[in-house]
Amino acid sequence: MILVSSCLLGIHSKYDGTTMNENSLLMKYCHLGKYLPICPEQLGGLTTPRAPVEIIHGSGEEVLKGIAKIKNNLGKDVTAEFRKGAEQLLYISQKMPVTAAILKERSPSCGVHKIYDGSFKHVVKEGKGVAAAMLYQHNIPVFSEEEMTEELLRELLGL
Ligand code: SF4
Repeated sequence: MILVSSCLLGIHSKYDGTTMNENSLLMKYCHLGKYLPICPEQLGGLTTPRAPVEIIHGSGEEVLKGIAKIKNNLGKDVTAEFRKGAEQLLYISQKMPVTAAILKERSPSCGVHKIYDGSFKHVVKEGKGVAAAMLYQHNIPVFSEEEMTEELLRELLGL
């Protein structure tokens, strides 16, 4: 079973409530029933739609260590919700036969290699989102949709 950011599967979980993140390659293999769609931000108790959020001058790892905060563009601190969402994702990955995760790049929760820098000016930097960092720390192989090839996806699906 593969954890997949639910917004990549056409579910209205993106912060603005749209399905703009739907990924055609992942959708092609949906019918196999091997995906477990998850949205860490919704699991953490945030609503959809919601205000856009960035990790403030830190990384997902630093949020988990308690040395960085997450705020929305209105200045509200949502660090607790993000930590809860990551913990819920870890719980799911330990209860279900999860072998890998495919997560949405640049998200403050799901970003695998890149996140926004906290300036809300669309500046991208290297780093993981909070949920991706949590899975990575617990040895779940984590990939972004941007590095996914059909060959790799078929291998993950056991095809
Ligand atoms: S938290 Fe992850 S799954 Fe949820 S909308 Fe953001 S990128 Fe998609």
